[in-house]
Amino acid sequence: MRYDIVDTTTTIVAPATAAGGAVMVVRISGSRAIEIADSMFRSRRRLADCQGNTLHYGTLHDEHDEALDDVVVALFRAPHSYTGDDTAEITIHGSEHICSELIRLAIERGAQMATAGEFTRRAFLAGKMDLSRAEAVADIIASDSRWSHNIASTQMRGGYSEHLASLRDELLRLCSLLELELDFSEEDVEFADRRALYTILDEVGMQIEKLTSSFSLGNAIKNGVNVAIVGEPNVGKSTLLNALIEDDRAMVSDIAGTTRDTIEATTNIDGVLFRFVDTAGLRTTENELEQMGIDRTYQAIENAHVILHLCSAENPEFAPIKIDSSTKRYIKVINKIDRITSSDSIANVDAICISAKLHSGIDSLRDTLRSTVDTSKLNSNSVVVSNMRHYAALKSAGEALQSARIALHNNLSSELISEDIRQVLHHLGEITGEITSTDILNSIFSKFCIGK
Ligand code: GDP
Repeated sequence: MRYDIVDTTTTIVAPATAAGGAVMVVRISGSRAIEIADSMFRSRRRLADCQGNTLHYGTLHDEHDEALDDVVVALFRAPHSYTGDDTAEITIHGSEHICSELIRLAIERGAQMATAGEFTRRAFLAGKMDLSRAEAVADIIASDSRWSHNIASTQMRGGYSEHLASLRDELLRLCSLLELELDFSEEDVEFADRRALYTILDEVGMQIEKLTSSFSLGNAIKNGVNVAIVGEPNVGKSTLLNALIEDDRAMVSDIAGTTRDTIEATTNIDGVLFRFVDTAGLRTTENELEQMGIDRTYQAIENAHVILHLCSAENPEFAPIKIDSSTKRYIKVINKIDRITSSDSIANVDAICISAKLHSGIDSLRDTLRSTVDTSKLNSNSVVVSNMRHYAALKSAGEALQSARIALHNNLSSELISEDIRQVLHHLGEITGEITSTDILNSIFSKFCIGK
């Protein structure tokens, strides 16, 4: 079911690359793409006479037939292109002037400037890819670590869609059997064996649950693992942040209360992005500004996946902090071990010992942090949910499935059971885009860049 009011008959144009490189690519796509490209391109042959999936070297000319640049045109013919329409991708030298001239000429000749994500939106509407794969295109572009790339790439290559399609097929088969019973309602027949039905619902339920519970890992990998560095003032939190990211991001000082606001910095540890937050030291204060910083520290603890609680070896005590240990990892760290001559005082404390200033123990701390993220689950290209929209749809699908199980258990009519299963199908369809609305599409594609 699609409610689409977007006009896909126009020809669109946009730069596909960011400015500043040696070359730039401008994309023109739509039924008039080849004609418009031909109107400004001079070569041995007209593009209109050439086959798709070919490259053509020539010159770009303005309306006065002045040569603007030497270019290469990649020609794609419908339906064998990204969008499914005729497409010309013109590679020019990386000049903003040439780029804007090209776009101006294309617009004068009938093209329209593409909106954000319009090329991918057209690819979706042309059935080139389902919605979850289209979303993965944006995730691939945004991926900044090996494992976030891994998740987006599996999704883009369709691993996720295939998985959902097989669940939907199974449920559709069930629905048709149940709905067949309705046609014979007077004869009291059962086409769908109730025991087999239970088994299939359980199996699909388990798959949905597996996908839903993969979200915390997927989300952490996609957006970065949030690590809050907390502890009393002056224990070395800012020094540790700088040591972890190997940069002087946070201000280090002997004056307690220097870090008044939270400071964020990221680093990549063995293919996973970690997002560290250096917080204001936890202590009782009369200072209003410092208190605001401390309030933000509690907020950072709330948002963190991992809490690094720091104390100084000179006073190895960890004041209790309220933490939900079912959702957060709590790691104790004793800093400034270079300041003590005997390790007796810290011998019985279960903590990682470091000297942030001398960079000692930092590798072992990085290893411990990395071990909080179990990427072994991702090795076999298994499907991991990293998108909030998909997570919400899976949650709703799981609830509807549970309701179908209860209906089945209570021996309710086939009509009611199939109604619940239809709901599960509906929510799974929202992920792949079988069920969608213009509002959802607008919200998804507006997050894309222009030219994608
Ligand atoms: P924060 O208030 O917890 O962020 O602490 P800072 O990082 O600002 O550090 C407070 C002081 O402790 C600074 O003078 C640091 O140079 C010093 N410091 C931090 N880590 C160490 C360490 O491992 N050894 C020693 N000797 N001094 C440290």
